[in-house]
Amino acid sequence: MDFQWYPGHMTKAKRMMQENMKLIDIMIELVDARIPLSSRNPDIDQLAANKSRLILLNKTDMADERVTAQWEEYFKEKGFYVARTNARSGKGVKGTQAIVMDACKEKLERDRKRGIKNRPIRAMIAGIPNVGKSTFINSLVGKACTKTGNKPGVTKQKQWIRLANNIELLDTPGVLWPKLGSDEVSLNLAYTGTIKSEVIDETEVAYNLTKFLLENYRENVTERYKLNQEDVEEMLANDELEENEKVVEVMNYIGRVRGAVQRGNTIDLDKTARIILTDFRSGNLGRITLEIAK
Ligand code: GDP
Repeated sequence: MDFQWYPGHMTKAKRMMQENMKLIDIMIELVDARIPLSSRNPDIDQLAANKSRLILLNKTDMADERVTAQWEEYFKEKGFYVARTNARSGKGVKGTQAIVMDACKEKLERDRKRGIKNRPIRAMIAGIPNVGKSTFINSLVGKACTKTGNKPGVTKQKQWIRLANNIELLDTPGVLWPKLGSDEVSLNLAYTGTIKSEVIDETEVAYNLTKFLLENYRENVTERYKLNQEDVEEMLANDELEENEKVVEVMNYIGRVRGAVQRGNTIDLDKTARIILTDFRSGNLGRITLEIAK
């Protein structure tokens, strides 16, 4: 598999984060609850060393609730404060402010002992592209937030957005790049649409996703496409087929049901692949988590 990234942007974004790091007390890191590890860049641990840390498991509305609870425990055990959010609906978003205060209680106590009153807690939001940073900030801040500096010729000033509880949030989120360490990570990012179709073969991605779904969320697939469960079981148990052929057989079945037929009355596998990916990415296949907490 061949994925391409753009080190120029990466270096610039990282430098921005490094420069701002000395200004903040707490790093709020958004991850995609469906792929909590693949959607992290581990460099952030080094970048934000000595800072309070809060992990937001975002897009929980799309993730498997039971597995999300396991991920919450996983990160708590590693010493992070954790919250679950749905930035799109706003669920859990405002509640993160109280968690920020809790995560920074030692700093507040230190300030108090030194006689410093009302120094704001300063926070940065960070995460890889597409995890929901902008949506989260908008949901947290509401319409009151007006950004400046987006017009050409206007120098972008560092802007702090004032929240409740004397918290200030840096208006520019820190963009980290995902770490494409393995095919598994790359595929997870492709399933969720973080890696775009120009750099990856969508049909191959859909094949791998279908394989995963048939192994872990088979009912979600049969329900969504109204497939006959017994037929699917039969296809997957067919000894005459190789493992990959079995998956393609089910994809063909989905294509047939969805009318993805091309000339000659054969199934258009590319079109079927796009249907499956679009359904997954828009949540039509139900709540699915792609990574299991170990
Ligand atoms: P950013 O690149 O991290 O700033 O991500 P965006 O805020 O642009 O969000 C990327 C996409 O994910 C958008 O289509 C959002 O509407 C969507 N999104 C963000 N948060 C959530 C969430 O909690 N649930 C769902 N279902 N979608 C979300």
